[in-house]
Amino acid sequence: MSGFSGASGTGGKPKSEKVTFTDRYVLKRTIEIAEALHSRYGVDRKHYAIAVAVAEDKNGSSHKLISSSEGAQTGGKMRPDVQHLAPPQADETIVDGFQHAERNIVSFVMSNGWTLKSIGVTMPVCAECQIAIGLYEIRAVTIEREPIQAK
Ligand SMILES: [Zn+2]
Repeated sequence: MSGFSGASGTGGKPKSEKVTFTDRYVLKRTIEIAEALHSRYGVDRKHYAIAVAVAEDKNGSSHKLISSSEGAQTGGKMRPDVQHLAPPQADETIVDGFQHAERNIVSFVMSNGWTLKSIGVTMPVCAECQIAIGLYEIRAVTIEREPIQAK
């Protein structure tokens, strides 16, 4: 396995806020997908942003969502080779869309009347996506650096 050691948050919540189950899933899965992208594309992984999120519906049920930034090339889906390396799980919904991955998810969450609880992205978040995510008063977990390779 490669060595993504963690992730950093930007904006939003105060640092003292406890890490929820939702955040732990998002962190783990974002690292897993970033590792899959890295093993396939190396440093070029940053050409392909994938976002992982948890949203809550009006009944309080959680929904796990994954989206990719390359809707125009892949019909809104994750790249097949990345799907192979980090396969979607049975309880995850792939969100189609043609915007940045983060905004695909925010649009989907809004159109369902849900609330975004946590989101992770395999690379730094652009200003427009930060604003969209900020509507839910959360910060994105992002994977910014390449993994440290064991020697
Ligand atoms: Zn963006």
